[in-house]
Amino acid sequence: MKITDIKVYSVEAVRRNWTFIEVETDADITGLGEITLEMFDTGVAAAVEDYKRILIGENPLETERLYDHMTRNKFWRTDTLSTTVLSGIDIALWDIKGKDLGVPIYQLLGGPVRETVRAYGNYWFLGATKDDYARTVDDYAKAAARAVDEGWDALKWSPFGSCAYTATIEQERVIVECVKRVREAVGDRADLLLDAHGRFNLPTMRRIARKLEPYEPFFIEEPLPPENIPAMVDLKNSTRVPLATGERLITKHEFLPLLNSFAVDYIQPDIIHTGGITEMKKIAALAEAFYIPMIPHNPCGPVATAATIHVAASIPNFMFTEYIDLPEREDVLVEPLVLKNGQFDLPTKPGLGIELNKKVFDKYPPQEREWDHYKPVRDIQMS
Ligand SMILES: [Mg+2]
Repeated sequence: MKITDIKVYSVEAVRRNWTFIEVETDADITGLGEITLEMFDTGVAAAVEDYKRILIGENPLETERLYDHMTRNKFWRTDTLSTTVLSGIDIALWDIKGKDLGVPIYQLLGGPVRETVRAYGNYWFLGATKDDYARTVDDYAKAAARAVDEGWDALKWSPFGSCAYTATIEQERVIVECVKRVREAVGDRADLLLDAHGRFNLPTMRRIARKLEPYEPFFIEEPLPPENIPAMVDLKNSTRVPLATGERLITKHEFLPLLNSFAVDYIQPDIIHTGGITEMKKIAALAEAFYIPMIPHNPCGPVATAATIHVAASIPNFMFTEYIDLPEREDVLVEPLVLKNGQFDLPTKPGLGIELNKKVFDKYPPQEREWDHYKPVRDIQMS
């Protein structure tokens, strides 16, 4: 079998454009991948053209060799844009391999170690008010109770509003009150996951983390920006709240020093940025050796979610995965992934087990966006 082409498709998906790829072969089998990278929509599409030059004519079943080929022949060091494209291609190659052998990908990764894949709720607070957004700590408490009643047993959100590096006394009061009220609303029925998006400097995060300890958050995610491991170690040693990071780290090479330093309690690699299925499985094995659980970052499209599910099904140290439920784009797949009470069923069809419904893509043309990760965030109000 030989790779003959790689096609790129882009679909507007409410908060970002989803970018999918399809690796075509001379054997009438195609593989799906995803390379969504927010503000780099045009960059990833261009990089597909660059990778194509070294992949056309190669045997798509040789996933390990082609991962090495794509890594070494790009020569330059690890970077997010090229590794995202490499990740999408790797996922597509595994899809081809599964389809060729007639089995779901997780069967090729050692077989399932669990019957379902647990997900945590995200954006559960949408719809909390008439204009669709939770504004007050009370809105968050009510929305959390509703989300748990609907079946979620882990909820993530950011109570940190528009804080940048530091927080005012009033902002800190709102953060603590929001977490307290959500904890009171859900009791012991849900894990509470707090995403700080790398907003804070060290003394501010240290102070806020201590104030949140009584409400037993499951973790604070990206409490600091991702670059400085000793800063994370310092923070970890100063609070009882567990820490998580990793969505902006890529490849095993960036996870190894984090693990070696015991800087966080959980790692959060993203399968479409960190090196695809091939690298995700290796990062999981590294983390397993440090007794560190994997909580994959996964806020993008359904191909990324499907790939995450296959790895999650096959690794012992998986805990739960991020997932953003987007009913408005359910028709992008011919058959949607099955999620019940916060658990995904394992796909049963060969490969990833999903099919893109390209007929509907014209309904959702990609939008040019002004992408600012921090600007649109509103502060939560006390009342
Ligand atoms: Mg995050």
